[in-house]
Amino acid sequence: KVVYKTLKLLVIGNSMVGKSSILLRYCDGEFNDDLSTTIGVDFRFKTLEVTGKPIKLQIWDTAGQERFRTITGTYYRKADGIMVVYDITNEESFKQISTWFKEIKKHAPPNVAKILVANKIDLQQSRVISQQQGQELAKSYNCSFFEVSAKSGEGVEKSFENLAEITFKNLSGGKNK
Ligand code: GDP
Repeated sequence: KVVYKTLKLLVIGNSMVGKSSILLRYCDGEFNDDLSTTIGVDFRFKTLEVTGKPIKLQIWDTAGQERFRTITGTYYRKADGIMVVYDITNEESFKQISTWFKEIKKHAPPNVAKILVANKIDLQQSRVISQQQGQELAKSYNCSFFEVSAKSGEGVEKSFENLAEITFKNLSGGKNK
């Protein structure tokens, strides 16, 4: 099948929020409880349809690099869409979201598509950030919001589909965001 367009996506957020796990779930349909941290795994591909057109996602895996602050401006500048992830059981990862959005503002193209994703919703008993808190934060950044679990798979596909959709719309003329 001929690919209509390739979209470059970036997944960012604090260490341990589950960025690699979300990618593994989406691209390979797997979950691994002790995913050893890999640094600089380049990127993964996944093809899907957006408004009936075959679209290829090239998703950069920056996991590991955030620890060493080596997610350079280059990554952001090349991105068409960005997924910002926090962990609902980790308050610090939620607090740091504003820092990640500042990085986007500083380095990414002004019309870059963004979504906010709350991971680990299978761990309801350890939840410290409510769904409403996430929703309100996403609203303040004018982006959409998804709660997911890389472990159960819930919401993962939907969140990437949504990001792909807004990214595609942004690139095909709607430069208003
Ligand atoms: P990263 O540093 O952001 O890439 O995070 P990882 O993908 O390496 O995940 C960090 C830890 O959280 C690992 O031990 C994962 O197994 C675990 N983890 C990731 N996603 C989930 C999830 O949805 N549910 C649960 N229970 N654990 C998760």
